[in-house]
Amino acid sequence: MAETNILSGKVVSDAVYAALKDRIMSLADHHSAVPGLAAVIVGDDPASQVYVRNKTRRFKNMNLHSETIRLPEETSQKELLSTIRTLNNDPVFHGILVQLPLPKHIDTSVVINAIAPDKDVDGFHPENLGLLTAGKPRFIPCTPKGIMRILEHFHIDPSSKHAVVLGRSNIVGRPISILLSQKQAYSNATTTICHSGTSDLRAFTTQADILVAALGVPEMIDDTYIKEDVVIIDVGINRVPDQSEKGYKLVGDVNYDAVQGIAQSITPVPGGVGPMTIAMLVENTVEATENLFN
Ligand code: NAP
Repeated sequence: MAETNILSGKVVSDAVYAALKDRIMSLADHHSAVPGLAAVIVGDDPASQVYVRNKTRRFKNMNLHSETIRLPEETSQKELLSTIRTLNNDPVFHGILVQLPLPKHIDTSVVINAIAPDKDVDGFHPENLGLLTAGKPRFIPCTPKGIMRILEHFHIDPSSKHAVVLGRSNIVGRPISILLSQKQAYSNATTTICHSGTSDLRAFTTQADILVAALGVPEMIDDTYIKEDVVIIDVGINRVPDQSEKGYKLVGDVNYDAVQGIAQSITPVPGGVGPMTIAMLVENTVEATENLFN
């Protein structure tokens, strides 16, 4: 049985950070500019707190500017919109991210629409999603962008392959399906997108040369869903209870052990897509800063 290769997002993200250093230096030298990120978090969802902490920590490591704006759970939509307007007009911040999910009383799409499109480093604003769909992206959402970068780094060319994407969210499933099907190098796949309305998931997944799992269902995809030599991108980050001090461990949407020896390669959880999401956020923020001077 051939061994399944591990596609380490940690390795790829280290290469991204190394490549960004010159661009960051050039911004400082030529424009006295330091890329800055404002991260807005509403409420105290523990997973969101960890995500924002990891993102802003990376900005600090790279000597970039970042600030976290913490707002209480009961913040009104009006108050949040007013915060975003202030950040839109603050030149210290080149990128703004609003950590999702937001509390239920807030309409996420209204909030995302309020972010200035040229500071929307998450790439969720409809203008940026439209540009992506038209093949002229400004900011590509970080997780799908990171997945494309993993494929390229490991010389996995999706061209003429069948890519099956599980999940159709605006932040992962839908944009990755668009990116994989674009007519360009390291893309050009025939793409199928599956979701909870798909009647026979295995009929599609067992045809996949590249399988992207973005379901949010812990370890759902096992050996019965795949064909031999598939490349698996496991996007899922799910907390499942265990006996550890933390009380939980992180698992993906794929049963990692069950696919070993069958899949050609797989991104681990943690250490796969997660680190790339953060690296692409840093890259998009550097890009947003450069855009000011181009
Ligand atoms: P989401 O908005 O909940 O979307 C999940 C998608 O999966 C939906 O399209 C849903 O279908 C579909 N789905 C759920 N259960 C299914 C099933 N049993 N069969 C078929 N389709 C099913 O989630 P998301 O935001 O895309 O995130 C997905 C996962 O990725 C989560 O675990 C999340 O934590 C993780 N994530 C990781 C990163 C990272 O950096 N690694 C970034 C973002 C998200 P419907 O549309 O029909 O409901």
